[in-house]
Amino acid sequence: MSTNYGYLYNIAGWGDPYFAVNSSGNVSVKIHGVETNPTQEIDLLAAVKKAITTKNLQFPLILRFPDVLKHRLDALNVAFANAIKYTGYTSHYQGVFPVKVNQNKHVVDDLVKFGKHYSFGLEAGSKPELLLAMHSLINGSPKAYLVCNGYKDMDYVSLALVARSINFNTIIVLELEDEVDTVVRASQALGVRPVLGIRARLLTTNPGHFGSTSGKHGKFGLLEAQIYAVAEKLKELNMLDCLKLLHFHIGSQIPTTSIISSAVREATGYYCNLVNIGAPMGTLDIGGGLGIDYDGTRSGSSDMSVAYGFEEYASAVVQAARLVSDQNGVAHPVLCSESGRALVSHHSILIYDALSAVEEPSDSVTSAELISRLDELVGNPTTLHANLKSAIQSQDGSNNTSLTHADQLKKHGVEIFKLSRRLAKQLEAAEETTYAYHMNLSVFSLTPDFWGIKQLFPILPIHQLNEKPTQKGRLIDLTCDSDGKVDQFIGGAQTLPLHALEQSGSSGYYIGTFLAGAYQESLGSRHNLFGGPNLVRVESTYSLGGTFRVVVVGAGPNAADQLKVMHHDPVEMLHAIAERAKEAGHWTPTALQLLKRVFYTMPYLFGEA
Ligand SMILES: *Cc1c(COP(=O)(O)O)cnc(C)c1O
Repeated sequence: MSTNYGYLYNIAGWGDPYFAVNSSGNVSVKIHGVETNPTQEIDLLAAVKKAITTKNLQFPLILRFPDVLKHRLDALNVAFANAIKYTGYTSHYQGVFPVKVNQNKHVVDDLVKFGKHYSFGLEAGSKPELLLAMHSLINGSPKAYLVCNGYKDMDYVSLALVARSINFNTIIVLELEDEVDTVVRASQALGVRPVLGIRARLLTTNPGHFGSTSGKHGKFGLLEAQIYAVAEKLKELNMLDCLKLLHFHIGSQIPTTSIISSAVREATGYYCNLVNIGAPMGTLDIGGGLGIDYDGTRSGSSDMSVAYGFEEYASAVVQAARLVSDQNGVAHPVLCSESGRALVSHHSILIYDALSAVEEPSDSVTSAELISRLDELVGNPTTLHANLKSAIQSQDGSNNTSLTHADQLKKHGVEIFKLSRRLAKQLEAAEETTYAYHMNLSVFSLTPDFWGIKQLFPILPIHQLNEKPTQKGRLIDLTCDSDGKVDQFIGGAQTLPLHALEQSGSSGYYIGTFLAGAYQESLGSRHNLFGGPNLVRVESTYSLGGTFRVVVVGAGPNAADQLKVMHHDPVEMLHAIAERAKEAGHWTPTALQLLKRVFYTMPYLFGEA
């Protein structure tokens, strides 16, 4: 077997059990995780080629693997079922998907379909999300939760009540004390009794970048005293029987299970107190935060890594909930999680092609320059020596001269130390040539979290991984932004090992950003009018005797679509430009065809494939 260079990108760390390098040197997708047999593996390069040749699609592409999505959902449910079985927990797990994490119709509909036998539900945080969740759950289990979070006005609350009246298992989660009044008014106006939850603002905090919504000063939810005040208010209104759920969300990408444990213990304490006040309760909703190991280190020491998998997470949650409910003599609640990132990240891969690679001008200094800088700083060695000698000689006398000398020498030493470190770094950098790979990509539109919060994703070529990548490259996108580049990679490197484009010949060089299924697609905006990618589903067909088929889910916006968003009128524009060309005596059928093509295809560049 040939060498496999997947290790350069730690694919075994973050990719397992879904991604590996196959014997052709291509990334292969194991659509059922560890249960995938070799005939079920999908060669990613083959899928990309099929999409661009048979469907005539342009880059960038997002390939979605619904089988992987299903596997994630199954794995999460199995993890909770096992933890419940082995700890003697007497209730069950019933999760929801927070639609803000990926609002795309196919993703939400797939999760509802795959999750029907788990009574898997949805979480909405706004009116449009509630609409799409209701629509999707028409095909779900009638028991599935429809959790309504976020700031609520009369219309939001009324819509949630209408949803309840037509037999969606809707729960309105109160995030502010005032929302009780809105709920009471809407409920009276519609004659529908709500099912309510309360969002707790825990003292347990999530230390990472994504944890800013938790803690005493967090933005959302009610502190302990406010929780009981709301319960009292509901009691006075004769509505305490409506209170059935306690929710918290301490932010995304929780790094360790000890933080999860402590959050669940704290929340279960409040839950039990609500039971003791007389609320029926029944469900503890632990929010999101189930993390992804983007760098594959399992270290939990940065936002890029978590130190646990589904099993450890589920077991921490179940044990903590059991411990505190037992201590309080309260029946074990149904456990609900709103896991978003962990469910959808893996199933979606962003693919783009390299247009060119050019050597980057080196900004490091020449060795002659380095030496002259060093000379400058160290000064004349004879003077340095004399200074040192006189400082030592006068050290027992506490005279000022020696102190001043010593002080100067110290400063000198520190400067030399700093310079030598800088020099070492520069020497290192000077040794390697780096390349700017120009990619059919808009970083801002396609991986906005990298652009905005420097979230790193695993990035690697999806083929040629049996050949040694000989160059170090940064990825430069098509936009004119100085930020339109990827120059930070998992593991701390500022370049990525890449193949020289000549190595791949005329067949194209394709790079994938992995684990990109969460948050990126809905955050992406229309920067520089480049817009979104083409969306493709890769569906396995081995049960029909095939391998896979590609289905185009949505074409990325064309230039005309993009211009319309900014209130330009493409029809009028084309007409006016044509008039101008006629006046100039240069109006030809070829020009018309060209204009039409540019208006009505995606703004990305056509690759050679
Ligand atoms: C964003 C969000 C989630 C999803 O969090 P993940 O870390 O992606 O699982 C869940 N619940 C609420 C209330 C959220 O705001």
